[in-house]
Formats: sequence, C-alpha cells, structure tokens
Amino acid sequence: MNEIDLQLLEKEEAERLISNGQAVRLNSRNKSPTLIGDSCLVKVNVSIGVSDNKKIDIELEKVSTLTSLKRESPDIIMDLTITDDYSVVDCLLESFNGPIGTLPHYRVPSKFTPKEYDRALLKHSELLASKGVSFFTIHPTANLDLARIASSTRKTPITSRGGGILLKHTLLHNCSNPFERILPEFVEMCKSYGVAISVGSSFRPSSNNDALDDVHLKEIALQTQYIQKIKSLGGTVFFECLGHADLNQLDTYSQIIKDVGVPMMALGPITTDMAAGFDHITNAIGASYLAHKGGCHVINSVTREEHTGKVPNIDSIVEGLKTAKIVAHSVNIAKFPIYKSIFEKNIYDQRAEKQSCVVDSGLFDEVQRERVGKGCSRCGAQCPLILTQKIKNHV
Ligand code: SF4
Repeated sequence: MNEIDLQLLEKEEAERLISNGQAVRLNSRNKSPTLIGDSCLVKVNVSIGVSDNKKIDIELEKVSTLTSLKRESPDIIMDLTITDDYSVVDCLLESFNGPIGTLPHYRVPSKFTPKEYDRALLKHSELLASKGVSFFTIHPTANLDLARIASSTRKTPITSRGGGILLKHTLLHNCSNPFERILPEFVEMCKSYGVAISVGSSFRPSSNNDALDDVHLKEIALQTQYIQKIKSLGGTVFFECLGHADLNQLDTYSQIIKDVGVPMMALGPITTDMAAGFDHITNAIGASYLAHKGGCHVINSVTREEHTGKVPNIDSIVEGLKTAKIVAHSVNIAKFPIYKSIFEKNIYDQRAEKQSCVVDSGLFDEVQRERVGKGCSRCGAQCPLILTQKIKNHV
C-alpha cells in the first residue's frame, strides 16, 4: 500500500475496511496495491486510449510522458482504447507503477448475437485480466427500461460511451444488458485474477440540467443493486458516478454516494456547461467540493478539450493531471493533519527562514522561481516579509 496511506491507517483497520467494502485494494503488477476509500488519500486517475489505430504512436508517447513523471505522477491510469489494438494497455502494464483500469466491452462488436456477445465478452475480459489489469469498469445499468425513461424526459438521454456501446447491442437484439447475463461468471473470473470491478454510470447527467433527475436517481439505485450483488458473489467493487452538477446539488449527491457504502470514482462533476476550453477548471471546482464532502475517493483528471471536440495532446493531458493533483492534495491536507504536516509545513518553515514567499519545494519541481535578495521582484524594496525581524524586535 501507499506509504502515506499506511501512516493514516493501521493495517488491521485497512483490512477491516476492505472486508466490509468501504475500502478497495487495487492490485497492480508492478507495485504494492493501492487503497481507495474514505479513510485513504484521495487518488487521481488519468484516462488515455485511441479510437483510431493510426493514432497509437501519439498515445504511446502519452504513456511514456505519464510514466516518467515523478511527484505529479497519476495514481491510476485507464486505457479507454476501443480498437482491436492492445499496444496502449500492454505498454502501460510494462511501464506504469500503479493500478491500470480498462473496459472489456469497448472492444466487443455490438452486432454479435447475445450468445456470441457473452462468449466474446468473457473471453476478452479474461485475456485482459490475465495480462494484469487492476480493474474493469462495466456498464450493467445500460438497459432498455432506463433508456425509455431517459428518452422521454431528457433532451440528451445518454452520454456515456461505454453505456452507449452496450445499449446499441441491447437495442439491436431487443435483449438485456450483457453484464446482467454474465455477472456471476464475470465476477468469478475477476476474483480468480484479483481484478476489482467498477460499476459505471451510463445515464450520468450530460449537462447540469439533468443532475438529480429521475433517471439518474433510478440509475444510482440500480448501480447499488449491482454493487450488492457483486459483493454477495465475493467480488471487489467500487463505483463511478456523476458527470455534471450544480455546486448546490453536491451536498445531496455526496450523501447519496456515502449511502452506497463503497468507494466512488467521480467523473467531474463539471459545475457549469458554459466553460468549454476550460473544463479542467470546472472539473477541479466540482471534484474539490465533492471530495471534501466525502463523496469522491478517486478524481478523474479532465482536460481543457472535454467539450471542444479535439483529442487532447500531451500538454493538455499533463495540464489536466496537474490540476487534478492540486485538487487531491488540497482535499488531502484538509482531511488528514498528518499529511499536511508531512508536506505543507516544510513550505511554511522555509518561507519563515528565508523571509520570502518564494521557496523551492512544491508539487511541481519544474516551476521557475525568481528571487531578488530576501524577497522577490513583485513588491521589490517594499517586501513586507523583510519586516519580520523588526516586528519581533519591536514587540
Ligand atoms: S516581495 Fe512580495 S511577493 Fe515577494 S517575497 Fe516579499 S512579500 Fe512575497
């Protein structure tokens, strides 16, 4: 486990939380497991992956950059590739030191008959599990009942790509959701490889207008049923939620999420639909509030390209990641005094010692600093920190 998580949590307490489902251990091939949950540090996930094999090289460069980061390294990486190419997940398994998640249904053709689909889904899931992935996100709630309600009450019924892929199959064959059909076998297979399951959200709000609507509340209730089912089958489970919501809805959401009783990986929540081009910031605002309220245990990094239609480049991915890391750090120092004393006190002490706001430590080592004498060039000779000694002598 993460060394700091171990300082926050006694081993026995960690085992107790894991056994009742409040914490989840994400195994990884190259490292000791990562713990997620309310009593652990909030973690950050970054998602990459391709929808066109011609762009694999660009994505592999992203893997190389992300895995070379030090302090700002993501805690978790997900591969969202939807093609038949495995290079991204293979490269991650080779080079990333944390948990790796993916979605097995992303690569199964919707046109398969239910029987063919189930067989292919299980086979493909087992292939990925045997390679060493840490968790699968599944979308068992993408069903025709919720789709009917969503299409009659929402202007945009569904926004999840994973949910959409499964819904396409269920519409084509007028059948149930594949994960509903194969759940016991799927859970058994995941257990045998130590793979956790994240119950994804297919009908999360696609804009703030749909937050807390009937469809989303019904979906969370159904997600909860799947979580209980997976638990009763002995599987390791957490869930995914949200997307978009107004700030004043997040107290309600965090209570709903706490009631589900397992760790939650948040998508967003993006707090306004008006900031295309700056959604790494709207994501940071929503994720900070939700995580501070205890309703989110893994933050998803979002890029400024979230609503621009462009594929994020590496600079944009790193910018989104750094923004999410600031969120996680801010929540963690507020949540855990010991974490604050390990990291923030050093800055406080250095500022006092050097009589300057400008010191070298921080989350991002590469940031250039400019010092002039004791202060810096901002206030020049009027630097108030220079008064420190005079104030002390005077008092
Ligand atoms: S000059 Fe101003 S900004 Fe710079 S160290 Fe002094 S108080 Fe801080």
